[in-house]
Amino acid sequence: MPTPTHTRELREQSRRLRQDAVFLRERAAELKARQAEFHELFDYWRAHYMWMVCAWCGANMGYKHMERPQKLNVSHGLCPRCLEKCKVIIEKRRV
Ligand SMILES: [Zn+2]
Repeated sequence: MPTPTHTRELREQSRRLRQDAVFLRERAAELKARQAEFHELFDYWRAHYMWMVCAWCGANMGYKHMERPQKLNVSHGLCPRCLEKCKVIIEKRRV
């Protein structure tokens, strides 16, 4: 037979569990909303920014904003270091 103290403790424990359940449901709803915002932002970012990569060495050259959305989101160019190497090669060929 549960004692009055034991019954009180069980009620208190039950109350805390209900509070925790409410908190966790609210938190899950917040996270779901933020996840949707994140996906929306990611889709925009992916369509409107082009990742620039050096064609010679593969160096990350940052991102370029695109006015119109693009399906391809990687483009290649020459990083400053590779451009200098290229200039030296061209100069040697001229001599
Ligand atoms: Zn490079």
